Amino acid sequence: MTWFKREKKPMEVPDERRVVTEGLWIKCDGCKDPLWKKDLEGNFQVCPKCNHHYKISAYDRINLLMDPGWSEHDASLYSTDPLNFKANKAYKDSLKSLPAKVGVQEAVVTVQGTMNSIPVVLSAMEYNFIGGSMGSVVGEKITRAIERSLESRSSLVVVSCSGGARMQEGALSLMQMAKISSALARLDQERLPYISVLTDPTTGGVTASFAMLGDLNIAEPGALIGFAGPRVIEQTIRQKLPEGFQRSEFLLEHGMIDAIVHRKEMKDFIAKSLTFFLP
Ligand SMILES: [Zn+2]
Repeated sequence: MTWFKREKKPMEVPDERRVVTEGLWIKCDGCKDPLWKKDLEGNFQVCPKCNHHYKISAYDRINLLMDPGWSEHDASLYSTDPLNFKANKAYKDSLKSLPAKVGVQEAVVTVQGTMNSIPVVLSAMEYNFIGGSMGSVVGEKITRAIERSLESRSSLVVVSCSGGARMQEGALSLMQMAKISSALARLDQERLPYISVLTDPTTGGVTASFAMLGDLNIAEPGALIGFAGPRVIEQTIRQKLPEGFQRSEFLLEHGMIDAIVHRKEMKDFIAKSLTFFLP
Protein backbone atom coordinates (compact mmCIF):
# COMPACT_ATOMS: atom_id res chain seq x y z
CA MET A 1 0.00 0.00 0.00
CA THR A 2 1.26 3.49 -0.76
CA TRP A 3 0.39 6.50 1.36
CA PHE A 4 0.91 9.04 -1.35
CA LYS A 5 0.38 8.76 -4.99
CA ARG A 6 1.70 11.09 -7.61
CA GLU A 7 -1.20 12.01 -9.80
CA LYS A 8 0.45 14.43 -12.16
CA LYS A 9 3.33 13.42 -14.33
CA PRO A 10 6.69 14.76 -13.09
CA MET A 11 7.53 18.10 -14.57
CA GLU A 12 9.80 17.89 -17.55
CA VAL A 13 12.10 20.59 -18.82
CA PRO A 14 11.78 20.89 -22.57
CA ASP A 15 15.00 20.04 -24.34
CA GLU A 16 15.56 23.44 -25.92
CA ARG A 17 15.46 25.15 -22.52
CA ARG A 18 18.23 23.01 -21.07
CA VAL A 19 21.49 24.88 -21.02
CA VAL A 20 24.66 22.86 -21.11
CA THR A 21 27.07 24.41 -18.63
CA GLU A 22 29.28 21.42 -18.03
CA GLY A 23 32.77 21.88 -19.41
CA LEU A 24 32.49 25.66 -19.83
CA TRP A 25 33.92 26.39 -16.39
CA ILE A 26 36.83 24.92 -14.50
CA LYS A 27 38.17 25.47 -11.01
CA CYS A 28 41.56 27.15 -11.25
CA ASP A 29 44.44 24.95 -10.04
CA GLY A 30 46.15 28.07 -8.71
CA CYS A 31 43.57 30.31 -6.97
CA LYS A 32 40.69 27.74 -6.84
CA ASP A 33 38.32 30.35 -8.26
CA PRO A 34 35.86 29.36 -10.97
CA LEU A 35 37.35 30.16 -14.32
CA TRP A 36 35.55 30.53 -17.63
CA LYS A 37 37.39 28.41 -20.21
CA LYS A 38 37.02 31.12 -22.86
CA ASP A 39 38.88 33.56 -20.59
CA LEU A 40 41.67 31.02 -20.27
CA GLU A 41 41.85 30.45 -24.02
CA GLY A 42 41.98 34.18 -24.70
CA ASN A 43 44.85 34.59 -22.25
CA PHE A 44 47.38 31.99 -23.55
CA GLN A 45 46.02 29.38 -21.08
CA VAL A 46 47.06 31.56 -18.13
CA CYS A 47 44.60 32.33 -15.29
CA PRO A 48 43.77 36.06 -15.54
CA LYS A 49 43.28 36.24 -11.75
CA CYS A 50 46.31 34.45 -10.26
CA ASN A 51 48.65 34.03 -13.27
CA HIS A 52 48.68 30.23 -13.01
CA HIS A 53 50.27 28.93 -16.22
CA TYR A 54 48.48 25.85 -17.53
CA LYS A 55 50.28 23.31 -19.71
CA ILE A 56 49.90 23.84 -23.43
CA SER A 57 50.47 21.46 -26.33
CA ALA A 58 53.66 21.44 -28.39
CA TYR A 59 51.87 22.89 -31.43
CA ASP A 60 50.19 25.67 -29.39
CA ARG A 61 53.64 26.52 -28.09
CA ILE A 62 55.13 26.58 -31.57
CA ASN A 63 52.36 28.88 -32.87
CA LEU A 64 52.83 31.13 -29.87
CA LEU A 65 56.58 31.51 -30.39
CA MET A 66 57.19 31.23 -34.13
CA ASP A 67 56.25 33.57 -36.96
CA PRO A 68 53.76 31.94 -39.36
CA GLY A 69 55.29 29.80 -42.12
CA TRP A 70 57.45 27.39 -40.06
CA SER A 71 58.13 23.87 -41.32
CA GLU A 72 58.37 20.70 -39.26
CA HIS A 73 61.32 18.27 -39.27
CA ASP A 74 61.60 14.57 -38.38
CA ALA A 75 57.83 14.27 -37.83
CA SER A 76 57.81 10.58 -38.76
CA LEU A 77 60.41 9.31 -36.27
CA TYR A 78 59.00 6.84 -33.79
CA SER A 79 60.33 4.47 -31.14
CA THR A 80 60.67 0.75 -31.87
CA ASP A 81 60.39 -0.37 -28.21
CA PRO A 82 63.90 -1.90 -28.19
CA LEU A 83 63.52 -3.50 -24.73
CA ASN A 84 60.07 -4.95 -25.39
CA PHE A 85 59.02 -3.24 -22.17
CA LYS A 86 55.89 -4.18 -20.26
CA ALA A 87 54.61 -2.69 -16.98
CA ASN A 88 50.89 -2.14 -16.24
CA LYS A 89 50.58 -1.60 -19.92
CA ALA A 90 52.78 -2.70 -22.82
CA TYR A 91 54.95 0.19 -24.02
CA LYS A 92 54.22 -0.92 -27.59
CA ASP A 93 50.50 -0.32 -27.04
CA SER A 94 51.06 3.22 -25.76
CA LEU A 95 53.30 3.96 -28.74
CA LYS A 96 50.57 2.70 -31.05
CA SER A 97 47.58 4.47 -29.49
CA LEU A 98 49.07 7.81 -28.43
CA PRO A 99 49.79 9.48 -31.81
CA ALA A 100 46.08 9.47 -32.75
CA LYS A 101 45.05 10.59 -29.25
CA VAL A 102 47.66 13.32 -28.69
CA GLY A 103 48.31 14.39 -32.28
CA VAL A 104 52.09 13.89 -32.23
CA GLN A 105 54.35 10.91 -33.08
CA GLU A 106 56.65 11.49 -30.11
CA ALA A 107 57.11 13.70 -27.05
CA VAL A 108 58.90 16.49 -28.92
CA VAL A 109 58.12 18.48 -32.08
CA THR A 110 60.91 20.24 -34.02
CA VAL A 111 60.28 23.11 -36.41
CA GLN A 112 62.37 25.61 -38.31
CA GLY A 113 61.42 29.13 -39.25
CA THR A 114 61.70 32.62 -37.82
CA MET A 115 60.91 34.29 -34.50
CA ASN A 116 60.33 38.03 -34.94
CA SER A 117 62.24 37.55 -38.23
CA ILE A 118 65.29 35.85 -36.57
CA PRO A 119 66.14 32.39 -38.04
CA VAL A 120 65.44 29.79 -35.37
CA VAL A 121 65.22 26.02 -34.90
CA LEU A 122 62.69 25.26 -32.15
CA SER A 123 61.96 22.00 -30.33
CA ALA A 124 58.89 21.97 -28.09
CA MET A 125 58.09 19.05 -25.79
CA GLU A 126 54.61 17.51 -25.52
CA TYR A 127 53.62 16.52 -21.98
CA ASN A 128 50.60 14.49 -23.04
CA PHE A 129 52.89 11.98 -24.75
CA ILE A 130 54.08 9.74 -21.86
CA GLY A 131 54.69 12.74 -19.60
CA GLY A 132 57.00 14.40 -22.12
CA SER A 133 59.55 11.73 -21.24
CA MET A 134 62.86 11.52 -23.11
CA GLY A 135 63.40 8.24 -24.93
CA SER A 136 65.77 7.59 -27.82
CA VAL A 137 63.52 9.37 -30.35
CA VAL A 138 63.24 12.54 -28.26
CA GLY A 139 67.04 12.47 -27.84
CA GLU A 140 67.57 11.94 -31.56
CA LYS A 141 65.12 14.69 -32.56
CA ILE A 142 66.71 17.25 -30.26
CA THR A 143 70.20 16.26 -31.45
CA ARG A 144 69.08 16.67 -35.06
CA ALA A 145 67.58 20.06 -34.16
CA ILE A 146 71.02 21.11 -32.85
CA GLU A 147 72.68 19.80 -36.03
CA ARG A 148 70.17 21.76 -38.12
CA SER A 149 71.03 24.90 -36.17
CA LEU A 150 74.69 24.26 -36.96
CA GLU A 151 74.06 23.63 -40.68
CA SER A 152 71.81 26.64 -41.17
CA ARG A 153 73.62 28.90 -38.67
CA SER A 154 70.31 29.41 -36.83
CA SER A 155 69.72 29.97 -33.14
CA LEU A 156 68.29 27.10 -31.09
CA VAL A 157 65.36 27.27 -28.69
CA VAL A 158 64.16 24.21 -26.74
CA VAL A 159 60.98 24.37 -24.65
CA SER A 160 61.06 21.63 -22.01
CA CYS A 161 58.02 20.07 -20.34
CA SER A 162 59.03 16.66 -19.11
CA GLY A 163 59.02 14.15 -16.31
CA GLY A 164 62.59 13.14 -17.27
CA ALA A 165 64.10 10.11 -18.95
CA ARG A 166 61.71 7.43 -20.24
CA MET A 167 62.06 4.36 -18.05
CA GLN A 168 60.47 2.19 -20.76
CA GLU A 169 63.74 2.54 -22.70
CA GLY A 170 66.05 2.11 -19.72
CA ALA A 171 69.71 3.00 -20.28
CA LEU A 172 69.02 4.03 -23.88
CA SER A 173 67.09 7.02 -22.48
CA LEU A 174 69.94 7.96 -20.19
CA MET A 175 72.41 7.91 -23.09
CA GLN A 176 70.43 10.73 -24.72
CA MET A 177 71.60 13.08 -21.97
CA ALA A 178 75.24 12.72 -23.05
CA LYS A 179 74.39 12.69 -26.75
CA ILE A 180 72.43 15.97 -26.61
CA SER A 181 74.93 17.62 -24.27
CA SER A 182 77.88 16.87 -26.58
CA ALA A 183 75.93 18.21 -29.59
CA LEU A 184 75.24 21.39 -27.58
CA ALA A 185 78.97 21.74 -26.93
CA ARG A 186 79.53 21.90 -30.71
CA LEU A 187 76.86 24.61 -30.96
CA ASP A 188 78.74 26.50 -28.29
CA GLN A 189 82.05 26.15 -30.19
CA GLU A 190 80.35 27.55 -33.26
CA ARG A 191 79.13 30.48 -31.13
CA LEU A 192 75.47 29.94 -31.95
CA PRO A 193 73.02 30.88 -29.16
CA TYR A 194 70.85 28.31 -27.39
CA ILE A 195 67.96 29.42 -25.23
CA SER A 196 66.32 26.91 -22.92
CA VAL A 197 62.75 27.54 -21.79
CA LEU A 198 61.64 25.57 -18.72
CA THR A 199 57.91 25.04 -18.23
CA ASP A 200 55.89 23.15 -15.65
CA PRO A 201 57.20 20.50 -15.02
CA THR A 202 60.85 20.12 -16.04
CA THR A 203 62.43 17.33 -14.03
CA GLY A 204 64.79 14.33 -14.02
CA GLY A 205 67.18 13.65 -16.88
CA VAL A 206 65.88 16.60 -18.91
CA THR A 207 66.81 19.07 -16.16
CA ALA A 208 70.09 17.19 -15.69
CA SER A 209 71.06 17.74 -19.32
CA PHE A 210 69.89 20.17 -22.01
CA ALA A 211 67.26 22.12 -20.01
CA MET A 212 69.97 23.64 -17.81
CA LEU A 213 72.60 24.08 -20.53
CA GLY A 214 71.17 27.15 -22.26
CA ASP A 215 73.13 30.34 -22.78
CA LEU A 216 70.00 31.63 -21.09
CA ASN A 217 67.71 29.42 -19.01
CA ILE A 218 64.28 31.03 -18.83
CA ALA A 219 61.32 29.68 -16.89
CA GLU A 220 57.59 30.29 -16.89
CA PRO A 221 56.17 31.49 -13.53
CA GLY A 222 55.45 28.83 -10.93
CA ALA A 223 56.98 25.94 -12.90
CA LEU A 224 58.20 22.88 -11.02
CA ILE A 225 61.88 22.50 -11.92
CA GLY A 226 64.17 19.97 -10.29
CA PHE A 227 65.88 16.62 -10.56
CA ALA A 228 64.25 14.34 -7.95
CA GLY A 229 60.82 15.23 -6.60
CA PRO A 230 60.37 17.00 -3.21
CA ARG A 231 59.00 13.87 -1.50
CA VAL A 232 62.06 11.80 -2.39
CA ILE A 233 64.40 14.57 -1.20
CA GLU A 234 62.55 14.97 2.11
CA GLN A 235 62.80 11.25 2.74
CA THR A 236 66.50 11.21 1.90
CA ILE A 237 67.65 14.23 3.91
CA ARG A 238 64.98 13.86 6.63
CA GLN A 239 64.28 17.56 6.65
CA LYS A 240 61.26 19.66 5.80
CA LEU A 241 61.83 21.56 2.56
CA PRO A 242 61.28 25.33 2.46
CA GLU A 243 58.13 26.89 1.02
CA GLY A 244 58.13 27.12 -2.76
CA PHE A 245 61.12 24.75 -3.11
CA GLN A 246 61.78 23.75 -6.76
CA ARG A 247 59.47 26.42 -8.19
CA SER A 248 60.78 28.96 -10.75
CA GLU A 249 60.76 31.84 -8.24
CA PHE A 250 62.85 29.87 -5.71
CA LEU A 251 65.31 28.87 -8.43
CA LEU A 252 65.68 32.44 -9.67
CA GLU A 253 66.33 33.67 -6.15
CA HIS A 254 69.07 31.04 -5.75
CA GLY A 255 70.73 31.71 -9.09
CA MET A 256 69.75 28.50 -10.87
CA ILE A 257 67.86 30.22 -13.70
CA ASP A 258 68.29 33.57 -15.43
CA ALA A 259 64.76 34.92 -15.76
CA ILE A 260 61.07 34.24 -15.24
CA VAL A 261 58.95 35.39 -18.13
CA HIS A 262 55.16 35.45 -18.52
CA ARG A 263 53.93 33.33 -21.42
CA LYS A 264 52.54 36.26 -23.35
CA GLU A 265 55.91 38.06 -23.27
CA MET A 266 58.01 34.96 -24.00
CA LYS A 267 58.36 35.40 -27.77
CA ASP A 268 59.52 39.03 -27.54
CA PHE A 269 61.83 38.21 -24.65
CA ILE A 270 63.56 35.35 -26.52
CA ALA A 271 63.83 37.35 -29.75
CA LYS A 272 65.30 40.32 -27.90
CA SER A 273 67.82 38.07 -26.11
CA LEU A 274 68.85 36.53 -29.43
CA THR A 275 69.56 39.93 -30.97
CA PHE A 276 71.84 40.54 -28.00
CA PHE A 277 73.75 37.28 -28.61
CA LEU A 278 73.92 37.44 -32.39
CA PRO A 279 76.70 39.38 -34.13
ZN1 LIG B 1 43.76 31.24 -10.86
